[in-house]
Amino acid sequence: MVLAELGGSISRAIQQMSNATIIDEKALNDCLNEITRALLQSDVQFKLVRDMQTNIKKIVNLDDLAAGHNKRKIIQQAIFNELCKMLDPGKPSFTLKKGKTSVVMFVGLQGSGKTTTCTKYAYYHQKKGWKPALVCADTFRAGAFDQLKQNATKAKIPFYGSYMESDPVKISVEGVERFKKENCDLIIVDTSGRHKQEVALFEEMRQKPDLVIFVMDSSIGQAAFDQAQAFKQSVAVGAVIVTKMDGHAKGGGALSAVAATKSPVIFIGTGEHMDEFEVFDVKPFVSRLLGMGDWSGFMDKIQEVVPMDQQPELLQKLSEGNFTLRIMYEQFQNLLKMGPIGQVFSMLPGFSSELMPKGREKESQAKIKRYMTMMDSMTNEGNSNPKLMNESRIMRIARGSGRSVRDVMEMLEEYKRLAKIWSKMKGLKIPKKGEMSALSRNMNA
Ligand code: GDP
Repeated sequence: MVLAELGGSISRAIQQMSNATIIDEKALNDCLNEITRALLQSDVQFKLVRDMQTNIKKIVNLDDLAAGHNKRKIIQQAIFNELCKMLDPGKPSFTLKKGKTSVVMFVGLQGSGKTTTCTKYAYYHQKKGWKPALVCADTFRAGAFDQLKQNATKAKIPFYGSYMESDPVKISVEGVERFKKENCDLIIVDTSGRHKQEVALFEEMRQKPDLVIFVMDSSIGQAAFDQAQAFKQSVAVGAVIVTKMDGHAKGGGALSAVAATKSPVIFIGTGEHMDEFEVFDVKPFVSRLLGMGDWSGFMDKIQEVVPMDQQPELLQKLSEGNFTLRIMYEQFQNLLKMGPIGQVFSMLPGFSSELMPKGREKESQAKIKRYMTMMDSMTNEGNSNPKLMNESRIMRIARGSGRSVRDVMEMLEEYKRLAKIWSKMKGLKIPKKGEMSALSRNMNA
């Protein structure tokens, strides 16, 4: 993901500054210039970047920092806060309520990923225990209903639409009525994405939607500002979903531009598949961008993608904080699958950014496989107790796996690094059913 590159550049700039013997004005300026360059490359608006730089310099007055203060920490915190400010529209978003039917309407230009996102949104909520349904009110584009039908069927979500009817208002009203009768608590209406038609829909529908979500493609970068403003003028946009964050260099620009219109981004699309969809929360997002990990996203993903019966075991292991070589082996297997569990681990600091950086998957996979062959040749004793590792054992592993002693040492170093990350989760309270989100908030606090 290109965003990972942006995050990588920023964290490298911070790291380089930390490596400087003295952190003086020059070191700070170098670091800020590097960050500025990275943000501009992501198409973040120049004014936003300049403001950020000015603010950081205001906060971090090197002369004022008493000796002994951790300057690097202070600067890193300032950068973190400023990035959060840049991405935060400062407005709470709408929340669905249990026991009430919410009608959510999707608007956005054609090709933005609207229909795909409708299903992702429904699927996400279905997994969280909601009862969603999809209504296709896009009577303009040929094939729109078929596409929605196909996606909905795959996700086992009820849908409504018509091949014959050309009036979107009629379809919306009928669909909403039907699904209300069926006690669905989240009715999602996909529209054609033409301003005028949406305005008419609002005027003519007996029931106004509870939320209008504007879907936009991240590849337009800072032009997202104008597009979001234009839509806001014709419909009451309550939230934004930015799609295609997986493939475009301008993702950072799009996100900050939307925030500047004071519209909250609630999810981001990160691929074509149903589960390539992430909750967007500013602080955890920035934290992850800077390689500091995203605990709330991590817990959310566990609940979402790890099969129910495997969740307790994984959480138990995490809560023990005891990272054995056996666990490392299992997690490597998960990472290699790069399936859902791979996604979970990509939220952990260190697991994805360093071990499996985006764009270098092939090399990383080869490295992980190499580590695994060495681990294969370990005895069970060594597997569960890395403290027992001594010179002769290391030699045996090297011989057994046909690798050099240096390779084995490297693998053990990697183990130590990951064990440190893992140990942060020690004492994790294992949540009961339904407690997951409360827990993730606590962890992030
Ligand atoms: P609509 O015209 O706005 O309804 O757009 P569609 O839902 O038909 O999506 C247009 C194209 O974008 C399709 O090929 C989707 O698979 C693709 N797409 C949608 N969201 C994402 C995303 O987050 N990442 C990627 N890579 N492709 C996406």
